[in-house]
Formats: sequence, structure tokens, C-alpha cells
Amino acid sequence: MTKKSSGFGNDADEFSPDSQNQGCPYSNNELDTGWVSRVQDKLATWFEGAQRTLPWRQDRDPYRILVSEMMLVQTTVTAVVPYFERFLARFPDVEALATADEPDVLKLWEGLGYYRRARQLHAAAQMIVSKHGGVMPMDPKQIRELPGVGRYIAGAILSQAFDLPEPILEANSQRVLARLIGWRGEQGSSETLRRLWGCAERLVPSRGAGNFNQALMELGALICTPRSPSCLICPVSEECRARREGLQDVIPTLTRRPEPLAASESSIVVRRAGRCLIVKRGPGGLWEGFWEFPTIHLEGANPGKRPTRDDTDSRWCPGDDRAPGRDRA
Ligand code: SF4
Repeated sequence: MTKKSSGFGNDADEFSPDSQNQGCPYSNNELDTGWVSRVQDKLATWFEGAQRTLPWRQDRDPYRILVSEMMLVQTTVTAVVPYFERFLARFPDVEALATADEPDVLKLWEGLGYYRRARQLHAAAQMIVSKHGGVMPMDPKQIRELPGVGRYIAGAILSQAFDLPEPILEANSQRVLARLIGWRGEQGSSETLRRLWGCAERLVPSRGAGNFNQALMELGALICTPRSPSCLICPVSEECRARREGLQDVIPTLTRRPEPLAASESSIVVRRAGRCLIVKRGPGGLWEGFWEFPTIHLEGANPGKRPTRDDTDSRWCPGDDRAPGRDRA
């Protein structure tokens, strides 16, 4: 077996192009062009017949793609669909969202989590209107200037709305690519991301980029799942290094979860004349701007950036104008 130095993937030497493995990803330490076009073709054919009908796939409207991608961060497609439909019914275009009041936007996001994303989406809509005349820019640099839009969401919009050959890399495609090339680096590490972004760049076709990117993600969602991937029915199983080496259950190499942080807090319920005191959570912490019973931090972690008992700010006194009261429904 030919020994190689630093290959595109790790241990490329164990999977050299002159081995008996026909579906080898590598040739001279680069992704093999034949392998690249086979993966592109097989995924495109599979996606045509297997893709799910999703509301943001009805057209190539970049606004709908932006909303769906912001909602899909850390959330499943099934959970997002009803939120997406409600959100689009209320804010059908970027102008409607840009001119909305933030509480209305947050109300429609309620239950999805990651509320910072809702605020970023709102701010992105405002920037599209104020800076780009209400039209989504097609320039990668300008798209990435929008609040909350990183390389992945920019790639999704550019490829799906404008069919530009921009790669994407999110949780599903990371897993699929790591398995396809047999990459055993730690998930989420900078080296892993560099390798997988490189792989995604190499694989994205010059035409049909949007469908290809969606096919990668769809394969990860339906077939190449985190646990027990369905290799027997996978359209690219012949091209997959992890399957060949029996590593599909150990790739990707997971990072250790951080230890949970202990926190101690104290809340009080104040009722007077049929009304109940609630306060707004302060800036910069967890769930910023949301309402709750007055709560102080006692000890341990303080992700909500709550005041402590020594805090001299008297904003929570029931008689204070800044402590808003709301009728309890
Ligand atoms: S063969 Fe298995 S591990 Fe490889 S891409 Fe397909 S489902 Fe994933």
C-alpha cells in the first residue's frame, strides 16, 4: 500500500487510489475528480425522488430561505414547519418583517428557542430594506454582513436562491462528509471544520448547487443519521470510506460535552390586588428581554447575568415605575 504524507483526509494512506477500493475519495492526496462526479450524480438522482415536500422548497425566494435557515439552527425540520408557516402568514415578505415590532416577532418565535436568532432575523430584514432596497444581495460579502448570517446560511441562500456554487456545512452535511471521506478528527474542531469545508467546496457543482447542498443535508436527515445510519439503502454507499472500513458508527468523532454548571437563584412571587409582578430579564444574558418573576443570583454560574442580593438597583421593588406589572390572565 502506498504511503502518503498529509492527505486531504486523515490517514489517506490507508485508502490509497491504487487499492482495490473502487470508490476511493482520494487521488494524489486530493479528492478524486471521478469520485466527486459520482457523488454529485448519485446524490442528485436520489434527491429528485426522495426529497421531502417542505414549505421553503416551494420556490427560490431568498427571504423564505433566510427565515427557514434561521429557524432551523439547532432545531428539527418537523418542529420548524408550523412555526415557519405561521411566521410567513404574518410576515409574508422582508418589508413586513422589517417594519414589525420586536415583541410581535418574538411572540411568533415563542417555543422555538434561541431567541437571539429571532432578533437577528428581524435586524437582518431591517438591513435588507434600509441598505439593499428590500432585495437580498447576491454578493457573499454583503450577505454575510446581515446579522446572524454566517458562512453556512450565506451558502444556503446563495446556492438555493441564486444557484451559485457556494458550499454549505451544517450538522447533517458535516456528518455525511466526515463519513464519506472517513475523517476521524474531533467534531467541531477547527481542523475538522477546515477539512470538511474544503470537501464541501470541492463537491459543490457549478450548476445545481442548491439541490446538491439540500441533497447532502437531506441524506444526513433521512439516511446517514447520527446513530445507526442506513448504509444498505444509501445512494452513495459505494463511495463511502466509513462504510468500507466499518466506521460509520464511530464517525464523526464526538466532542465531550462540557460539564453542566451549577447555579443557585431565588425567585419571589408578588401578588397585589389581583395583579402579579413580573420583570423583564436584563441585557446580555440568557433569554434577554423576556418576562419572569423577580429573581436574583445567589451563587455559582450566572448565565442570565442576574443581579445579586447586593445589587443596589431597586428596579424590582413593586412600587418602582420601572418594574412593570401585568394582569395575570
Ligand atoms: S454509506 Fe452509510 S455512513 Fe456512508 S454516507 Fe451512506 S449512510 Fe452514511
